[in-house]
Amino acid sequence: MWLPICSFYDVTVRHQLGLDWSDNIYWDVVTPHEVAHQWWGQMVGFDSYRDQWMSEGFADFSASLFLQSAYGSKGQKKFMEFWDHERKSIIERNRFGYRPIEVGPVTMGYRLDNSKVGGNIGVDLIYPKGAYILHMIRMMMWSNQGGDQNFKEMMHDFTKTYNGRAASTEDFKSIVEKHMTVDMQRMGDGKMDWFFDEYVYGTALPSYKMDSGFEKDASGDIVFSLKVTQSDVNDKFRMLIPVYLELADGRTAFLGRVRIAGNSSTDAKIPLKGIKEVPRRAMLNYYDDVLASPN
Ligand SMILES: [Zn+2]
Repeated sequence: MWLPICSFYDVTVRHQLGLDWSDNIYWDVVTPHEVAHQWWGQMVGFDSYRDQWMSEGFADFSASLFLQSAYGSKGQKKFMEFWDHERKSIIERNRFGYRPIEVGPVTMGYRLDNSKVGGNIGVDLIYPKGAYILHMIRMMMWSNQGGDQNFKEMMHDFTKTYNGRAASTEDFKSIVEKHMTVDMQRMGDGKMDWFFDEYVYGTALPSYKMDSGFEKDASGDIVFSLKVTQSDVNDKFRMLIPVYLELADGRTAFLGRVRIAGNSSTDAKIPLKGIKEVPRRAMLNYYDDVLASPN
């Protein structure tokens, strides 16, 4: 395993050497990222430079799982900060005026770097966007009943099938297609092309807005009303966007996914059976489930 010597320094030594950058999440991520290459890069290789996003991206994604599970009660906050940081790297303009996501798809790999757009687009894109692509699939597969079960089975199948071999982007897509949930099946008639065309082979970046409220119906049940708007996309773009509730006791609950195609809105009224107290608020895309412009 390769680790930079600086990853062994503690906070004091880093400070003495002037290494306490604003970008401090690097220190939390570097070790789990490099450890994760034993799966992404060593166990499962990548077929060509067009598939390298799966090595660097999946290693970055694995670091997010480490942050979420290894820091006890602080884990969730670190996890959220990590995805915030990844999104900034993908969509903020560099000093040449380019946003990495606009320069090209992750499948162009390091060919994205050139003298016009700057020499760092590859790193600023394939690591964080590669990670985001897998995170989006994880969140799409998550369920209240089974948690990460679907996603774990899919990733186990991927590592088992390609153990000791190189996998291509299409190989990975066909493994995802073997493990689609009902929601995912409906989105693409049993295929995942819609998602791969948008985020893997494409440069889509949607924006979202949600208006929501709670009221009580005649029988005293709480009814949740919502209107979700999707914009900044082409007519073919479609997505499943998760909605969460912050309950009266402070817990966050997953409610379901809204399906929207093109630049349009969807509204719904959902009776919240079994919820006695009015939730504090509703949140769209709370766990950065979908890579989108920040509101
Ligand atoms: Zn790496």
